[in-house]
Amino acid sequence: MASDCIFCGIVAGKLPAQIVDSDEHTVAFMDINPATPGHALVVPRTHTADLMEVSDEDLERTSVAARRLAQKMQRALEPDGFNVLNACGSTAWQTVFHYHLHVIPRYEDDPLKLPWIPRGAPEEEIAAIAERIRAGDSDEDR
Ligand code: AMP
Ligand code: ZN
Repeated sequence: MASDCIFCGIVAGKLPAQIVDSDEHTVAFMDINPATPGHALVVPRTHTADLMEVSDEDLERTSVAARRLAQKMQRALEPDGFNVLNACGSTAWQTVFHYHLHVIPRYEDDPLKLPWIPRGAPEEEIAAIAERIRAGDSDEDR
């Protein structure tokens, strides 16, 4: 447990939260600033900062718990779809550094918009980036 981590505080029962699901390894609770009605977060009980640090086991458990929560929401709220999201790093909008998945029920009339503008890219550019990923190039090569 990280003593200054809000989500560790919720997992430990020391900070208030509307818990909606839990198991041996994960806890799910309502987001205090919901993007849509029902927006919740799923966290592993074990503290790690983000997607880069979380163990394979907790990654899997959290994903399975997120789907279980979505199924529960489907029955209770009857949304039209879901977004399951992770932000990794402050540039990518992460604000709480305890790995988590957002489970966001979507409704046809909700106000959410796609956060990027699909812009297209030359085939060669996509291929070149794919080659860098396959080769495991580091940032230093840029
Ligand atoms: P992210 O920006 O992806 O790191 O997501 C963090 C989320 O945690 C945000 O959607 C916040 O609204 C939410 N949040 C922050 N503090 C709390 C809290 N005490 N209880 C529930 N949700 C929280
Ligand atoms: Zn934590």
